[in-house]
Amino acid sequence: MALINENYLKLPGSYLFSEIARRVNQFKTDNPEADIIRLGIGDVTRPLSPAVVEAMKTAVDEMGHAQTFRGYGPEQGYEFLSEKIIENDFKPLGVELTADEVFISDGAKTDTANFPDILGVNNIIAVTDPVYPVYVDSNVMAGRTGLFNDNKGQFDGIVYLPCTEENGMKPQLPTTKVDMIYLCFPNNPTGMTLTKDELKQWVDYARENKALILYDAAYEAFIQEDNIPRSIYEVEGAREVAVEFRSYSKTAGFTGTRCAYTIVPKEVKAYDSQGNAHSLNSLWLRRQTTKFNGVSYPVQAAAAAIYSEAGKKEIQANVRYYMDNAKLIREGLINAGYKVFGGVNAPYIWLKTPDQLSSWDFFDKLLNQANVVGTPGAGFGASGEGYFRLTAFGTRENTEKALERIRTKM
Ligand code: PLP
Repeated sequence: MALINENYLKLPGSYLFSEIARRVNQFKTDNPEADIIRLGIGDVTRPLSPAVVEAMKTAVDEMGHAQTFRGYGPEQGYEFLSEKIIENDFKPLGVELTADEVFISDGAKTDTANFPDILGVNNIIAVTDPVYPVYVDSNVMAGRTGLFNDNKGQFDGIVYLPCTEENGMKPQLPTTKVDMIYLCFPNNPTGMTLTKDELKQWVDYARENKALILYDAAYEAFIQEDNIPRSIYEVEGAREVAVEFRSYSKTAGFTGTRCAYTIVPKEVKAYDSQGNAHSLNSLWLRRQTTKFNGVSYPVQAAAAAIYSEAGKKEIQANVRYYMDNAKLIREGLINAGYKVFGGVNAPYIWLKTPDQLSSWDFFDKLLNQANVVGTPGAGFGASGEGYFRLTAFGTRENTEKALERIRTKM
């Protein structure tokens, strides 16, 4: 008899996005003429840039000729890409890395969800609340949590770090000891960032407690202000305690192309039950070479083109486009009297629902009155109740139209 992994039974189901789809479909059935604008899901609307498309086409042609055909590549990714990552994404920050500390993959979702494969199931995890749900659900699947507690709207056994108006959406250090800490900055869903000093507190905590920080920097490219760290390795000591996840999905429109990377410094360690330290770089390499055969050559060639002169300009233009949307949303909402967070260094705007409406009541009101779809904050965790997420990834036209409707119809 095949037994299942019963941890999967603890998951309440994909409640958030299926519930959004259900309500939108019902609204469409009742109002077939309505012109619905979606500023809810995190997908992008700008196409791949010309330099990327050109590089991918050239790579596909190479694959069609025996002389230039490539079969299995290195599981960790091609050095032509990892060298560009080191040169362009880290060297300018004063962060030195070697190619074997870079692991190229098909997504930050894949990596954030899989990385704990090499970590013990008895580790106590800490996540911010609200949170990108993948960190929680992947740990539930791995058996690192208790059951879902309906009263709290949280899983037992996880340390939740509330991000609220009172603390400016910035998590405070845990008061009980934790072993694995997920930090995502710029943050999805709040759009907030940490300063270097704030991030240093986490690095210091991890060093003192032999904890590991899983740092998701998927939105790093959207940072506009100079004093915000782009990488956790800008903080002294972080190489000993942090792995960093990055993605081309939002930066370069790779949501459907799939390419990302994870940095695992040689110094970063975790411990066996005798207290002996083990290199996570070696363990992650062992894990990846066993379970992963690398990202396709045309996709890695396309990713490398992001770092060409033309590619850099085109990507910057995309980021500018989305951040101009973010500014429009942020300022439009503030002018309309909303309290908002984020949208300055991130493509997400986190608004406080007016009149103490619940996240879902605001969702319904926005859909019914303005025909705009956003994401209820409660879907990202208990502390997200009373908040709502809008994204800057729409087209300019739709973003402007949505704001005009919010101004006049809400
Ligand atoms: N990390 C965060 C915080 C995200 O918001 C997302 C996507 O929405 C991802 C990771 C997933 O990125 P990828 O497309 O590289 O899997």
